[in-house]
Amino acid sequence: MSDKSVQVGGMILGMVGTNCFYVFDENRVDEDGKVHVIFFDPADRGKLIYDKLTEKNFVIDIILLTHGHFDHIAGAEELKKLSGAKLYCHEKEMAMLSDPYLNLGDYFGCRVGKVKADGYYRDGDIIEAAGLSCKLIATPGHTSGGCCYYFEDDGILISGDTLFEESVGRTDFPTSSTSELMRSIKERLFVLPDDTIVYPGHGGVTTIGHEKIYNRYVI
Ligand SMILES: [Zn+2]
Repeated sequence: MSDKSVQVGGMILGMVGTNCFYVFDENRVDEDGKVHVIFFDPADRGKLIYDKLTEKNFVIDIILLTHGHFDHIAGAEELKKLSGAKLYCHEKEMAMLSDPYLNLGDYFGCRVGKVKADGYYRDGDIIEAAGLSCKLIATPGHTSGGCCYYFEDDGILISGDTLFEESVGRTDFPTSSTSELMRSIKERLFVLPDDTIVYPGHGGVTTIGHEKIYNRYVI
């Protein structure tokens, strides 16, 4: 059953235009009048993210990462400190967060400070926060610990740099694998319902059904 009160908000931040998304149930207001959110990929400027969400009466319950590249984590430490929210990623991505070679900070000349996850999840783990529930789907390929987050009841997929609108993530980086990326998309994402709305790490929003027809990079 689709719950229409579940919404996705977003902002674009950082030197390569990264989508930062937050998911919330607008009907679920706490006794202080605040709406709680799950925040994905604080790409840059943690204080700006915090201020914008606070202005709108949002509280961040948890921060989840789709992967550890610098352009998805540069705002993480500041956002953690200001919000008090804990940060999690896939088990295999832990080391990338604080390694400027692996997280491409050196490659793009944009070193981020040390980002530390408070814990990790594995494939199939259910994450309950902000009154919502989502499942981690491991989708190695862009990075070995890259993953997507699937809100099954709401038909929402946060796809990071695994699947883009009519494109896919690059696989020429440390821990990347083209064959793994293809397998992840075909076997883990293209099996989801066609009307699943896909929110990628860069570019426009799409659906699984649209990508199955029009994405010419998935072979
Ligand atoms: Zn990336």
